[in-house]
Amino acid sequence: MSKKELLDAIVTEVIVCRKCELWKTRKNPVPGEGSPNSQIMVIGEAPGYWEDVNGKPFVGAAGKFLYTLLSEAGVSRESVFISNILKCRPPNNREPLPDEIEVCTPYLNSQIRVIQPKIIVTLGNYSTAYIFSKVGLPFNGITRAHGKFYEASILDLNVIVFPTFHPAAGLYNARYKGLLQQDFQLLRQELVKHGCPKV
Ligand code: URA
Ligand code: SF4
Repeated sequence: MSKKELLDAIVTEVIVCRKCELWKTRKNPVPGEGSPNSQIMVIGEAPGYWEDVNGKPFVGAAGKFLYTLLSEAGVSRESVFISNILKCRPPNNREPLPDEIEVCTPYLNSQIRVIQPKIIVTLGNYSTAYIFSKVGLPFNGITRAHGKFYEASILDLNVIVFPTFHPAAGLYNARYKGLLQQDFQLLRQELVKHGCPKV
């Protein structure tokens, strides 16, 4: 099967998933999307209101800011694969529960296995905590972890993990906005080093 077919098979599983209670209150599952040949994977937390309505990741205000940040790093929307820790929206955008993360992340792991990204950009505490736990790095909060490149092995793949803040944090807080902009400039420099992104 091609990468595209393998990713479509994961979407099919997510659509019928009832492994946690979130399927009951969501409007649409948001499995994630992007080029199957992406070298960069961006991992958020969970769908919000507009993602739930549209079935697509990062289509609200935080998404708009994320795509601005990516484009300032020289990365187009088409050259990344965007996914989330949870595939269904938690009611009222509450935080993901540990049980939900445990039962939902096998889908994310399958996406990582298929795509085999060179760089994984984690957005915010939940995404970073999950990926750090997978690669055996201690996590002491996004404020300490952000803006550095961690060489790691995940699911037998060598990757670079780059944590930054969740773009929603930068929408109403100038300090976080500035830190996000700085981090994405570091990302730009690193991508140049690695000849990324190529689709
Ligand atoms: N925030 C997230 O973490 N993910 C989305 O898809 C949208 C907003
Ligand atoms: Fe399944 Fe994940 Fe949706 Fe829960 S959040 S129902 S585990 S796809």
